[in-house]
Amino acid sequence: MFGLRRRPDGFPDGIGQLLLGHLGADKKLLARAVRKPDRLPAVLRGDRNSDLDSPLRIAHRPDHAGDYGPDFIELNQPVEDGPQALQNAVLDLQLAFPSAEPEWHTVRILRYVAHKITLIPGDGIGPEVADATARAVEATGVAVEWERVDAGLAAEKATGHYLPEAVFDSLARTHVGLKGPVGTPIASGHSSVNVALRKRLNLFVNFRPVRMLPGLKTRFSDLAIDLVIFRENTEDLYAGIEHEVAAGVMESLKVITKTASMNIAKAAFEYSVREGRKKVVAIHKANIMKLTDGLFLRCCREVAAGFPEIEYGELIVDNACMQLVMRPETFDVLVLPNLYGDIVSDLTAGLVGGLGIVPGANLGDSCAVFEAVHGSAPDIAGKGLANPTALMQSARLMLAHLGERDAALRLQKAIEAVYREGLHLTRDVGGIAGTDEFTKAVIGKL
Ligand code: NAD
Repeated sequence: MFGLRRRPDGFPDGIGQLLLGHLGADKKLLARAVRKPDRLPAVLRGDRNSDLDSPLRIAHRPDHAGDYGPDFIELNQPVEDGPQALQNAVLDLQLAFPSAEPEWHTVRILRYVAHKITLIPGDGIGPEVADATARAVEATGVAVEWERVDAGLAAEKATGHYLPEAVFDSLARTHVGLKGPVGTPIASGHSSVNVALRKRLNLFVNFRPVRMLPGLKTRFSDLAIDLVIFRENTEDLYAGIEHEVAAGVMESLKVITKTASMNIAKAAFEYSVREGRKKVVAIHKANIMKLTDGLFLRCCREVAAGFPEIEYGELIVDNACMQLVMRPETFDVLVLPNLYGDIVSDLTAGLVGGLGIVPGANLGDSCAVFEAVHGSAPDIAGKGLANPTALMQSARLMLAHLGERDAALRLQKAIEAVYREGLHLTRDVGGIAGTDEFTKAVIGKL
């Protein structure tokens, strides 16, 4: 994802912003653009600023909200000729760096074109929390064009398929999705829509920031919990390779590859450097699964060696669970294979108020799908009781990913203000409000 936009309100008119996605490929490009400003179009070059080597600089995040937004480079001089000049500049940039990665071809002028986002409402409480979240996103003032597509039960009823091609067609156009939970029958029935989506789009990072919200009373409220989970998202026991060996004997294959393990470890360390995190802990069971978890661990060690500024540690998964309950505030960034990542995500959600709270992002090379950690909660579906905080916080990550950091920050602050007041909270977090009342309270704060 790459684009150019003008700064949000409060910044001098005409100052532009170049946005580059969170991906390694884009970052190489960024480095090149900053190193060789003479190759930049004149409109972006400007005069050298005495404080800076280049008229462009890598901008720092305005907050520390644990988001996973793109790096971006900021122009330090006004582009006085207005939007058309900015648009031309992007096209010139493409010419200046013709060998650039494919992301260059998806250039958009963010400020003047609405963000196209695929909205997958999902099953159970999915449509309720998705509707609430879409309203909150729109209330930030960011221009959004939703492409609504169904997956799960609604899709099966309409098309006969749980995961219709329309979902992939839409994501191929938008590259960004906001997704409600989709149910998967237990011990029989169709296979998981979520797993299929992540595998087919190669969304290899599952990113889940777990933080205590202000004012929320939990068993651990007195602790400053602020940790981040990097869960491998495409393999492990989720490969779904199961068979009957003989009557009464079943087998399920655990698949761990070097490529996927390196990818998730790199994502965790690169994030840690960028966000000023201090320590990455790899979670495993390599004492028992010596080949599979052993490979995962070796990959984490190899990547860790390239990041000496980040402390690296390892914990066996059972011990990690105990320590997370005993001393959650001491954890920073966790990197895990798929299944442990799933289980530990729910465990850590329990530390900060439950599944209604924790957001997530599935990130790949050309696509990102944002969704809460929780499932379709059939026990409360259709009752207007669901807590939309987790999906709203996922939307905050999405806005940051799209480069809408100002809107992301405002949405986060609005959610926090509602929690701090504590007057319109849903039942799962000790309040008496329903989904709609909570949503209106958040929108009121925006
Ligand atoms: P769940 O997360 O749906 O629910 C667990 C408990 O948490 C329930 O008591 C539920 O009421 C509560 N809860 C969850 N989200 C809540 C919210 N936003 N507000 C208030 N309470 C909330 O887990 P489950 O019951 O084990 O799974 C139900 C279905 O969801 C299964 O079919 C499962 O496969 C699916 N699932 C989907 C996803 C996904 O789409 N990403 C993730 C997990 C589970």
